[in-house]
Amino acid sequence: MRDFALEIEQRKHAGLYRTRRLVSGPQQPELTADGQALLSFCSNDYLGLANHPDNIEALKNALPETGLGGAASHLVCGHHDAHHQLEQRLAEFTRRSSALFFSTGYMANLGVISALVGRGDTVFSDRLNHASIIDGCILSRARVRRYAHGDVAALETMLADTSGHKVVVTDGVFSMDGDVAPLKALARVCKAHDALLVVDDAHGIGVLGPQGRGSVLEAGLSEDEVPVLIGTLGKAVGTSGAFVAGPEVLMDYLVQKARTYIYTTAMPPAMAIATCASLNLIESDDQRRAHLNELIVRFREGAQALGYELMPSYTPIQPIMIGGNEEALALSQALEQQGVMVTAIRPPTVPEGQARLRVTLSAAHSHEHVDRLLGALSECRTLRGFRDSEQVAAL
Ligand code: PMP
Repeated sequence: MRDFALEIEQRKHAGLYRTRRLVSGPQQPELTADGQALLSFCSNDYLGLANHPDNIEALKNALPETGLGGAASHLVCGHHDAHHQLEQRLAEFTRRSSALFFSTGYMANLGVISALVGRGDTVFSDRLNHASIIDGCILSRARVRRYAHGDVAALETMLADTSGHKVVVTDGVFSMDGDVAPLKALARVCKAHDALLVVDDAHGIGVLGPQGRGSVLEAGLSEDEVPVLIGTLGKAVGTSGAFVAGPEVLMDYLVQKARTYIYTTAMPPAMAIATCASLNLIESDDQRRAHLNELIVRFREGAQALGYELMPSYTPIQPIMIGGNEEALALSQALEQQGVMVTAIRPPTVPEGQARLRVTLSAAHSHEHVDRLLGALSECRTLRGFRDSEQVAAL
């Protein structure tokens, strides 16, 4: 315990200590965190569906029919009609042959990558891929080759000098930068070098592409070109869980091999029913995406006019680049004093020297909410120059 306590102290000194806030009430832009009323720009509920009355109603109505718990793993007796229907709905939504419902995106990435590659194979992974992809690669015991972020030419060189079974894995939308992977070019080099392309579209599903069908369809790519699509349901879809979509033989294979699918309790079936309701809203209502895109443009123009450095992102993930860990924390704390919540993201989640404030926008925000954020950022402008921890401590 002494060693653990020491490491915690070291983290505190380095500005890397992590804390949790206690949120009460529903997840929505104006919420209560640690007892304080705050306007939040931290959630991944990009379409504001986590608190939508139709989805809540669907869950409530489903409960008497399905009961509460998943009760068993899918392969024992937990695979419910509701899960089956959601899988068909997800296949249709993503325009793919079939889909498999996982309990979380983290589990989907671990399970899929470790099922697709093993000892003697090679997995190629973008340097900025999500932690669950990194962990899936490690778990697989395959050789891992990381390529520079979005650098298709570097990837192609690596693919050309590697033999054997090859899998390339990338985020569709990068979770900390908000940029979109060069999917067309990735699909082209994968085809040329006989590599299987896996795209984790956790942040693209619901937001990008025609009727929110994701980054792969935005890029106009077919199941043949991107055979393995992973998506999560706890972000824009507003419920919980994740899925893999692709050819039927892939789903059959994953049911045999993906340990995070096999050895875990099935998601409560009522959640699958609520997720179908949410997909209906996503498909039928382009208004939410149009409003969200207006907010993204409003934020970018306003923040850039204030002199803040943003990333080349057209998605709801809009990081404000700061650099130092303490400066990022100081800005986050100063914004909080103005009633606005934006989390500081520090290493190891992002590379050393690239601490940032990860602003995420949602269709549940109003124009006035974005203006409040910009107003608070304007008040805090002078803080960006902070380098000295004493100044930070004096806050
Ligand atoms: N993939 C990416 C790119 C993510 O950002 C996340 C979550 N932040 C996940 C997977 C994990 O999804 P879940 O939260 O459903 O476990």
